[in-house]
Amino acid sequence: MANQQQWESTTSILSLPTDVLSEVLERVGSSSSTDLFSAKLCCKLFNEVSDADTIYQRVSLQKFEIVPWHKNDKVSRFLKKCRQCKNPEAMYRKAVVDYFSDKHLDSALECLEEAADSGHPAAAYALGIIYLFVGTDELKRRGMRLLSGLQKSRFLQGGLKLCRENLRALLRMIWVKNPVFLNPTPICCAMTHERKTSSWPMDADDVEESTCEGCACDEEIAAICAALPSR
Ligand SMILES: [Zn+2]
Repeated sequence: MANQQQWESTTSILSLPTDVLSEVLERVGSSSSTDLFSAKLCCKLFNEVSDADTIYQRVSLQKFEIVPWHKNDKVSRFLKKCRQCKNPEAMYRKAVVDYFSDKHLDSALECLEEAADSGHPAAAYALGIIYLFVGTDELKRRGMRLLSGLQKSRFLQGGLKLCRENLRALLRMIWVKNPVFLNPTPICCAMTHERKTSSWPMDADDVEESTCEGCACDEEIAAICAALPSR
């Protein structure tokens, strides 16, 4: 009898402590927003727990259009809530659209930095590209460091290519109006070669890297320029 009671009390998902249930729903949402929305419809408790900030922070946006063709208030509200809860993908999308369309530049950069810091590779890539185009020497170096970090990352096999394709696809969907991207293509290579022959301290990574970091960045710039409107 005791065993049966124990069995009954441990088999219902509703008997889980709220934080455990929240963790379960976070995982559901992080793999599929559709499954999360279905779970929300199951019962009042699921619906309440699903409204936590951590759920919005981790929910997958894969099923949502990167740049919605039709305005949908419900979707807009949902995505805004995701951004407020620091969902990195939601922040990345809005920040790239804003920055390249020449809107809210400072907050767009802040959002990209935050998303990149939280480990969103496409945000780090977009930030790197923006730094290269913005063009002061210090920002160029930061951009090159970001891109070369993605290139060398052991956790991101082929990740640089995915980030590049992601950004290119996004740029083809919007009207790029930021003059920074309509100016002549910045050249990174000369800067790096100069750096390598100068007396500046270099990281161990720089010394061992045989290919030219600047040339690699110039290739990224060319790939992004190809996705921009003709200049
Ligand atoms: Zn070079």
